[in-house]
Amino acid sequence: MSTVPQPLASVLPCPLIDRAGPFDPYRVRADFPVLKQSVCGKPLVYLDNAATAQKPRVVIDTLQRYYACENANIHRGVHHLSQIATDAYEGARTRVRHFLNAAQDREIIFVRGTTEGINLVAQTWGRQQVGEGDEILISAMEHHSNIVPWQILCEEKGAKLCVIPINDRGELMLDEYEKRLNGRTRLVSVAHVSNALGTLNPVREIVDLAHRWGVPVLVDGAQAVPHLKVDVRELDCDFYIFSGHKLYGPTGIGVLYGKADLLASMPPYHGGGNMIKSVTFEKTTYADLPNKFEAGTPPIAGGIGLGAAINYLNQVGLDRAAVYEEDLLSCATEALSRIPGLSIIGTAPRKVSVLSFVIEDIHPHDIGTVLDQEGVAVRAGHHCAQPVMQHFGVPATTRAATAFYNTPEDLDALVRGLHKAIEVFR
Ligand code: PMP
Repeated sequence: MSTVPQPLASVLPCPLIDRAGPFDPYRVRADFPVLKQSVCGKPLVYLDNAATAQKPRVVIDTLQRYYACENANIHRGVHHLSQIATDAYEGARTRVRHFLNAAQDREIIFVRGTTEGINLVAQTWGRQQVGEGDEILISAMEHHSNIVPWQILCEEKGAKLCVIPINDRGELMLDEYEKRLNGRTRLVSVAHVSNALGTLNPVREIVDLAHRWGVPVLVDGAQAVPHLKVDVRELDCDFYIFSGHKLYGPTGIGVLYGKADLLASMPPYHGGGNMIKSVTFEKTTYADLPNKFEAGTPPIAGGIGLGAAINYLNQVGLDRAAVYEEDLLSCATEALSRIPGLSIIGTAPRKVSVLSFVIEDIHPHDIGTVLDQEGVAVRAGHHCAQPVMQHFGVPATTRAATAFYNTPEDLDALVRGLHKAIEVFR
């Protein structure tokens, strides 16, 4: 029998809201309509933010307004609506540019999401630059979307996929990384933040080491942008990729940032409308950046919705939210560590948002099911990071991932639910 936990707010070691100054999670929470509902008769506690984040009212309203009042295809139309839609879409590109502190709008390519962005680089830059005997260097904590596209490329080209190992805290081993960089390395591709472990990788250091060998670096920023202020010029990475839906924006939209000279040197990915300058049966010339990589009708509403999400984040203040989220994570870590038989998977000192864990003798899916009955949404599984599970010798974990709209009461509900799972299954 487990003991009844005290409410977290009374046992938390850190002054959650104080250190974050004026940041008020209860106020921002009110901006998210979906969070107001009940699940299984309990208030919804949404802790599946690493899979996708909820959308603030302003994003929902923007999509609704776009379809109700502004819908038109972009770039080619001369009529009023087409110009409004084009301006809104291109305005969103500028917002993304500022959000990442990229130098130019043309360095921002809209894609469907992180998966498509990585595949784009693998199939364009990769096919052009990687040959037999070359090496692509990734890490042992990557999401499948930063493994499989490189495997496909390596298989086609006779190149080799090399892996930077991680230690038992789930940190990338930098000394091993250095050893694996050599004259055959063509690209380093690593997550900024691991979706399975929460580890925050030292991207600037990784980039500096790769650049000494003249090797470009791709950063999978899917789990970083919702929680950290990212500055691609400060990081000096060559590609940075993220998904809109994890950043409080719509699904079906994502961003590939690339340094302009690199993108300009790459062949196109998809062929079709919008990506050409001229077409004859003998020869096609391609449009300039960013259109060269945006064939066909793009996800117009998605782009505009992502722009609205970024606007919203600018108002919330991602820096202040990050301080609050850091406190929330350390409180949750502390609270979960007190649960008998629970082991946290991923204990790096520098972590963001993600708490992956296993509880002795209880399958992660069973934990997830009990939590669901308590209104608590978490994820159970391998999180598309099977090599991470293999490293830690577990088939799966339960993953709670916070966002800035989560509160100490949400953590209380999680802890209560976990005690309940222990009661049910032991
Ligand atoms: N990389 C990481 C680190 C992720 O967490 C995810 C989503 N779980 C992806 C890539 C893939 O993102 P998407 O499914 O939006 O393409």
